[in-house]
Amino acid sequence: MHTATTDYRLSGWRGEFVHPSIEQAFRRHSEADAARSLRRALLVWASLLLLFGLMDYSALGGGYDFFLLFGWRLATAAVLLLLYWQLRSKPSLVSDGYAVTAAEVFGSVLFFMLYFLRHDMVSWVIAVVAISLLALFMFIPNRVYLSLLAAAFLSIGMMACVAARGMGADKVIGLGFILALPTAVGFFTALRWQLAQRQQYALLMQVISSNRDLQDEIKRREALEAELKRQATTDPLTGLFNRRQYEMLFQRERERCSRLQQEMSLCVMDLDHFKRINDQYGHDVGDTVLKHVAQHLSCALRHSDVVGRFGGEEFILILPDTGLEQAVAVLNRLREALAETPVPVQGELLPVSATFGVTTVQPDDFDLEVIIRRADQALYEGKGAGRNRVMTA
Ligand code: GH3
Ligand code: MG
Ligand code: MG
Repeated sequence: MHTATTDYRLSGWRGEFVHPSIEQAFRRHSEADAARSLRRALLVWASLLLLFGLMDYSALGGGYDFFLLFGWRLATAAVLLLLYWQLRSKPSLVSDGYAVTAAEVFGSVLFFMLYFLRHDMVSWVIAVVAISLLALFMFIPNRVYLSLLAAAFLSIGMMACVAARGMGADKVIGLGFILALPTAVGFFTALRWQLAQRQQYALLMQVISSNRDLQDEIKRREALEAELKRQATTDPLTGLFNRRQYEMLFQRERERCSRLQQEMSLCVMDLDHFKRINDQYGHDVGDTVLKHVAQHLSCALRHSDVVGRFGGEEFILILPDTGLEQAVAVLNRLREALAETPVPVQGELLPVSATFGVTTVQPDDFDLEVIIRRADQALYEGKGAGRNRVMTA
């Protein structure tokens, strides 16, 4: 799980996520889009406001009423354009919805003024208000229950205007019903749209999250596979290749060298008087020395060389593209370096040396056992000759 909460439940009447942090994340996610469509709506709204000012002029002429109305139109347009301007740098204004709602409430006042000042179109004003109520929900991106508040302000205000003109209660209530119709249609349509947007977002987030989980799982399995492979191919104490792996690598290198007509050497190495170390310092110290030697071998040899643990304190070194003479030189360097680098254990420096038996792999050498036995024979002779030396076979 990547998010602290993944509770994507929706509140049916508010049309928002129940969990505030999810709702916040959704708004942030859709903010840029919502701000863009709100700005478009504000421009259209402001343009219509000013355009209808021409009709005021043709109905009222250039008198006081016209200027009063036009002044209010200008003030409303200024508010809308200010919001339009603010949204460029603060798209978050669209998310909380309060500035939009304030603009909607401010814009409503024009209808009240129209009702009183445009005597020529009293009944038309009601129709325009009904359409505007619908437009409020459809075209102005806002949180749906805030839109409902603005719609209620406009509807109740309109009813108050009608009542103030001395109309009977039946007329006022009738108007309430008429205006409730577009309000309800607008509200439920906007609510469904708002819910659909959030459901889509929840799906997207779930897909992203399960994708991420899947990626993590793939990584975990890859690591596990690598670890299993390492365990299957290496010796646990020294980390060197185990028998199965160096046998496989030997066959691969042998085939490659014979194809490229290169020479190849194989060496068996055995630590000198290792029993003494075990006897004198204990098995654990013996293990430390083995690890030290393994490290030394891995670092000193070429990357293409194969270093394996053959038995207790015996190692196999496979040297591809290396003739016998070259192998002896390499192994002597290795031997000297080993003898010159005592192992620090328990505050002491333990000198370690090894004896090497090396042989070349012949083109007709298919059996690794046979080659090892040959190298082992040379090693055995090296032990007899006083140890700490490289012997060939
Ligand atoms: P030489 O010079 O003749 O090889 O003398 P050596 O004492 O090394 O004799 P040998 O090779 O026969 O002895 C092998 C010893 O290595 C026997 C055993 O105590 C020790 N040994 C084998 N495997 C391990 C191991 O995994 N850990 C430790 N600590 N010791 C091991
Ligand atoms: Mg041995
Ligand atoms: Mg030994």
